[in-house]
Amino acid sequence: TPNVRPLAAGNWKMNGSSEMTLSLLKGLTERLKSAGGSLAAEILVCPPFPYLAAAIALVDKDIAVGGQDCHPKASGAHTGDVAAAMLADIGCRYVILGHSERRTDHGESSAEVAAKAAAALVAKLTAIICVGETEAERDRGEALKIVEKQIVESLPPAGSASNLVIAYEPVWAIGTGRTPTSDDVAAVHGHIRKLLRTNLADGGQVRILYGGSVKPANAAELMAIPDVNGALVGGASLKAEDFWAIAEAC
Ligand code: PEP
Repeated sequence: TPNVRPLAAGNWKMNGSSEMTLSLLKGLTERLKSAGGSLAAEILVCPPFPYLAAAIALVDKDIAVGGQDCHPKASGAHTGDVAAAMLADIGCRYVILGHSERRTDHGESSAEVAAKAAAALVAKLTAIICVGETEAERDRGEALKIVEKQIVESLPPAGSASNLVIAYEPVWAIGTGRTPTSDDVAAVHGHIRKLLRTNLADGGQVRILYGGSVKPANAAELMAIPDVNGALVGGASLKAEDFWAIAEAC
Protein backbone atom coordinates (compact mmCIF):
# COMPACT_ATOMS: atom_id res chain seq x y z
CA THR A 1 0.00 0.00 0.00
CA PRO A 2 1.69 3.25 -1.09
CA ASN A 3 2.25 6.11 1.40
CA VAL A 4 1.38 3.95 4.38
CA ARG A 5 3.90 3.32 7.16
CA PRO A 6 3.55 -0.28 8.36
CA LEU A 7 2.89 -0.99 12.03
CA ALA A 8 4.44 -3.75 14.13
CA ALA A 9 2.18 -4.06 17.18
CA GLY A 10 2.87 -6.29 20.18
CA ASN A 11 -0.10 -7.44 22.25
CA TRP A 12 1.28 -8.76 25.54
CA LYS A 13 -2.21 -9.87 26.67
CA MET A 14 -2.21 -10.80 30.40
CA ASN A 15 1.52 -11.51 30.45
CA GLY A 16 4.51 -9.76 31.94
CA SER A 17 5.93 -8.23 35.10
CA SER A 18 7.91 -5.14 36.06
CA GLU A 19 11.10 -7.03 35.34
CA MET A 20 9.90 -8.27 31.97
CA THR A 21 8.70 -4.79 30.95
CA LEU A 22 12.14 -3.42 31.74
CA SER A 23 14.14 -6.11 29.95
CA LEU A 24 11.91 -6.31 26.88
CA LEU A 25 11.82 -2.56 26.31
CA LYS A 26 15.55 -2.27 26.97
CA GLY A 27 16.05 -4.96 24.35
CA LEU A 28 13.88 -3.17 21.80
CA THR A 29 15.33 0.28 22.52
CA GLU A 30 18.91 -0.99 22.14
CA ARG A 31 18.11 -2.72 18.86
CA LEU A 32 16.40 0.40 17.56
CA LYS A 33 19.43 2.51 18.45
CA SER A 34 21.75 0.08 16.64
CA ALA A 35 19.46 0.27 13.61
CA GLY A 36 19.93 4.05 13.45
CA GLY A 37 16.89 5.16 15.45
CA SER A 38 14.02 4.01 13.29
CA LEU A 39 12.74 1.20 11.09
CA ALA A 40 10.52 1.32 8.03
CA ALA A 41 7.72 0.16 10.35
CA GLU A 42 6.41 1.95 13.41
CA ILE A 43 6.79 -0.12 16.60
CA LEU A 44 4.02 -0.39 19.20
CA VAL A 45 3.89 -2.33 22.47
CA CYS A 46 0.66 -2.95 24.40
CA PRO A 47 1.42 -4.18 27.95
CA PRO A 48 -1.25 -4.80 30.62
CA PHE A 49 -2.55 -1.63 32.34
CA PRO A 50 -0.29 -1.84 35.45
CA TYR A 51 2.87 -1.67 33.28
CA LEU A 52 1.84 1.08 30.85
CA ALA A 53 3.35 3.99 32.77
CA ALA A 54 6.63 2.13 33.32
CA ALA A 55 6.74 1.22 29.62
CA ILE A 56 6.17 4.83 28.57
CA ALA A 57 8.98 5.98 30.85
CA LEU A 58 11.36 3.44 29.28
CA VAL A 59 10.86 4.21 25.59
CA ASP A 60 11.55 7.30 23.57
CA LYS A 61 9.27 8.63 20.84
CA ASP A 62 10.19 5.94 18.32
CA ILE A 63 8.36 3.19 20.20
CA ALA A 64 4.66 3.80 20.83
CA VAL A 65 2.75 2.37 23.78
CA GLY A 66 -0.93 1.40 23.80
CA GLY A 67 -3.62 -0.11 26.00
CA GLN A 68 -5.48 -3.39 25.34
CA ASP A 69 -8.99 -2.03 26.00
CA CYS A 70 -10.88 1.07 27.14
CA HIS A 71 -14.39 1.89 28.34
CA PRO A 72 -16.85 3.70 26.05
CA LYS A 73 -17.69 6.30 28.73
CA ALA A 74 -15.42 9.21 29.69
CA SER A 75 -15.61 8.60 33.47
CA GLY A 76 -17.94 7.45 36.22
CA ALA A 77 -19.16 4.45 38.17
CA HIS A 78 -17.46 1.63 36.25
CA THR A 79 -15.33 -0.31 38.72
CA GLY A 80 -12.30 -1.95 37.16
CA ASP A 81 -12.58 -0.12 33.86
CA VAL A 82 -10.20 2.39 32.26
CA ALA A 83 -11.16 5.44 30.19
CA ALA A 84 -9.54 6.27 26.87
CA ALA A 85 -8.63 9.73 28.19
CA MET A 86 -6.67 8.10 31.03
CA LEU A 87 -4.61 6.12 28.51
CA ALA A 88 -3.96 9.29 26.52
CA ASP A 89 -3.19 11.22 29.72
CA ILE A 90 -0.26 8.96 30.65
CA GLY A 91 1.13 8.98 27.10
CA CYS A 92 -0.48 6.06 25.27
CA ARG A 93 -1.00 6.66 21.56
CA TYR A 94 -2.99 3.53 20.68
CA VAL A 95 -5.61 1.19 22.10
CA ILE A 96 -6.48 -2.33 20.92
CA LEU A 97 -10.26 -2.83 20.76
CA GLY A 98 -12.50 -5.81 20.09
CA HIS A 99 -9.78 -8.45 20.34
CA SER A 100 -11.35 -11.89 19.91
CA GLU A 101 -10.42 -12.74 23.50
CA ARG A 102 -12.44 -9.76 24.72
CA ARG A 103 -15.30 -10.61 22.37
CA THR A 104 -15.26 -14.14 23.87
CA ASP A 105 -14.28 -13.54 27.53
CA HIS A 106 -16.38 -10.41 28.00
CA GLY A 107 -19.07 -10.87 25.38
CA GLU A 108 -18.12 -7.66 23.59
CA SER A 109 -20.36 -6.93 20.63
CA SER A 110 -19.29 -4.98 17.56
CA ALA A 111 -21.63 -2.15 18.64
CA GLU A 112 -19.74 -1.96 21.94
CA VAL A 113 -16.44 -1.97 20.06
CA ALA A 114 -17.68 0.94 17.92
CA ALA A 115 -18.61 2.88 21.08
CA LYS A 116 -15.19 2.20 22.59
CA ALA A 117 -13.53 3.27 19.35
CA ALA A 118 -15.53 6.51 19.31
CA ALA A 119 -14.31 7.20 22.87
CA ALA A 120 -10.73 6.44 21.82
CA LEU A 121 -10.98 8.94 18.96
CA VAL A 122 -12.33 11.65 21.27
CA ALA A 123 -9.27 11.02 23.48
CA LYS A 124 -7.04 11.34 20.39
CA LEU A 125 -5.92 7.71 20.54
CA THR A 126 -5.60 5.57 17.44
CA ALA A 127 -7.99 2.61 17.71
CA ILE A 128 -6.84 -0.81 16.51
CA ILE A 129 -10.08 -2.64 15.75
CA CYS A 130 -9.75 -6.43 15.67
CA VAL A 131 -11.91 -8.69 13.53
CA GLY A 132 -11.72 -12.32 12.42
CA GLU A 133 -13.73 -15.45 11.80
CA THR A 134 -13.80 -18.64 13.90
CA GLU A 135 -12.75 -21.97 12.43
CA ALA A 136 -16.38 -23.11 12.11
CA GLU A 137 -17.24 -19.91 10.24
CA ARG A 138 -14.32 -20.42 7.84
CA ASP A 139 -15.30 -24.06 7.29
CA ARG A 140 -18.81 -22.89 6.37
CA GLY A 141 -17.29 -20.50 3.81
CA GLU A 142 -18.44 -17.47 5.78
CA ALA A 143 -15.08 -15.80 6.58
CA LEU A 144 -15.58 -12.77 4.32
CA LYS A 145 -19.20 -12.32 5.39
CA ILE A 146 -18.34 -12.43 9.11
CA VAL A 147 -15.38 -10.07 8.78
CA GLU A 148 -17.47 -7.65 6.72
CA LYS A 149 -20.22 -7.60 9.35
CA GLN A 150 -17.70 -7.04 12.16
CA ILE A 151 -15.97 -4.20 10.29
CA VAL A 152 -19.15 -2.41 9.29
CA GLU A 153 -20.60 -2.65 12.82
CA SER A 154 -17.34 -1.87 14.68
CA LEU A 155 -16.30 1.25 12.76
CA PRO A 156 -16.79 4.47 14.74
CA PRO A 157 -18.20 7.57 13.09
CA ALA A 158 -15.36 10.02 12.29
CA GLY A 159 -12.85 7.22 11.73
CA SER A 160 -10.05 7.88 9.27
CA ALA A 161 -6.61 6.61 8.31
CA SER A 162 -5.07 8.90 10.95
CA ASN A 163 -6.95 7.40 13.89
CA LEU A 164 -7.94 3.90 12.81
CA VAL A 165 -6.10 0.62 12.25
CA ILE A 166 -7.81 -2.67 11.39
CA ALA A 167 -6.34 -5.99 12.55
CA TYR A 168 -7.49 -9.15 10.78
CA GLU A 169 -7.01 -12.02 13.21
CA PRO A 170 -8.62 -15.35 12.31
CA VAL A 171 -9.61 -16.72 15.73
CA TRP A 172 -8.35 -20.21 14.84
CA ALA A 173 -4.88 -18.81 14.05
CA ILE A 174 -4.39 -17.00 17.39
CA GLY A 175 -1.85 -18.78 19.57
CA THR A 176 -2.19 -22.02 17.61
CA GLY A 177 0.85 -21.92 15.32
CA ARG A 178 -1.53 -22.21 12.35
CA THR A 179 -1.84 -19.48 9.72
CA PRO A 180 -4.11 -19.08 6.70
CA THR A 181 -2.60 -19.50 3.23
CA SER A 182 -1.23 -16.35 1.60
CA ASP A 183 -4.15 -16.50 -0.86
CA ASP A 184 -6.67 -16.56 2.01
CA VAL A 185 -4.98 -13.62 3.76
CA ALA A 186 -4.90 -11.70 0.46
CA ALA A 187 -8.61 -12.36 -0.12
CA VAL A 188 -9.64 -11.09 3.34
CA HIS A 189 -7.32 -8.07 3.33
CA GLY A 190 -8.47 -7.16 -0.20
CA HIS A 191 -12.07 -7.36 0.94
CA ILE A 192 -11.35 -5.21 4.02
CA ARG A 193 -9.61 -2.65 1.80
CA LYS A 194 -12.67 -2.50 -0.46
CA LEU A 195 -14.95 -1.97 2.56
CA LEU A 196 -12.71 0.77 3.96
CA ARG A 197 -12.62 2.55 0.60
CA THR A 198 -16.42 2.41 0.49
CA ASN A 199 -16.95 3.61 4.06
CA LEU A 200 -14.13 6.15 4.61
CA ALA A 201 -12.85 9.02 2.46
CA ASP A 202 -9.24 7.91 2.99
CA GLY A 203 -9.96 4.19 3.37
CA GLY A 204 -7.15 3.40 0.95
CA GLN A 205 -4.63 4.59 3.54
CA VAL A 206 -5.93 2.78 6.65
CA ARG A 207 -3.39 0.25 7.89
CA ILE A 208 -4.65 -3.34 7.85
CA LEU A 209 -2.61 -5.62 10.13
CA TYR A 210 -2.52 -9.40 9.99
CA GLY A 211 -2.52 -11.21 13.35
CA GLY A 212 -2.47 -14.88 14.32
CA SER A 213 0.72 -16.90 14.95
CA VAL A 214 3.05 -14.36 13.34
CA LYS A 215 6.63 -15.53 14.01
CA PRO A 216 10.05 -14.43 12.76
CA ALA A 217 9.97 -17.42 10.38
CA ASN A 218 6.72 -16.50 8.61
CA ALA A 219 6.65 -12.69 8.99
CA ALA A 220 8.35 -11.79 5.69
CA GLU A 221 6.01 -13.99 3.67
CA LEU A 222 2.91 -12.58 5.40
CA MET A 223 4.10 -8.97 5.07
CA ALA A 224 4.63 -9.39 1.31
CA ILE A 225 0.90 -10.02 0.77
CA PRO A 226 -0.95 -7.08 -0.85
CA ASP A 227 -2.83 -4.87 1.64
CA VAL A 228 -0.98 -6.32 4.64
CA ASN A 229 0.39 -3.21 6.34
CA GLY A 230 1.94 -4.72 9.44
CA ALA A 231 1.33 -7.29 12.14
CA LEU A 232 -0.46 -7.67 15.46
CA VAL A 233 1.71 -10.09 17.39
CA GLY A 234 0.80 -11.96 20.57
CA GLY A 235 3.14 -14.70 21.80
CA ALA A 236 6.16 -13.65 19.73
CA SER A 237 5.95 -10.07 21.07
CA LEU A 238 7.07 -11.27 24.52
CA LYS A 239 10.67 -11.83 23.38
CA ALA A 240 12.67 -8.80 22.25
CA GLU A 241 14.63 -10.84 19.72
CA ASP A 242 11.51 -12.30 18.06
CA PHE A 243 9.44 -9.11 18.09
CA TRP A 244 12.36 -7.14 16.68
CA ALA A 245 12.79 -9.65 13.83
CA ILE A 246 9.07 -9.33 13.03
CA ALA A 247 9.26 -5.51 13.18
CA GLU A 248 12.15 -5.61 10.71
CA ALA A 249 10.07 -7.82 8.39
CA CYS A 250 7.20 -5.29 8.57
C1 PEP B 1 -3.19 -11.93 19.14
O1 PEP B 1 -3.96 -12.49 19.91
O2 PEP B 1 -3.28 -10.69 18.95
C2 PEP B 1 -2.21 -12.76 18.44
C3 PEP B 1 -1.96 -12.49 17.21
O3 PEP B 1 -1.65 -13.81 19.14
P1 PEP B 1 -0.51 -14.83 18.61
O4 PEP B 1 0.50 -13.99 17.85
O5 PEP B 1 0.07 -15.41 19.86
O6 PEP B 1 -1.19 -15.82 17.74
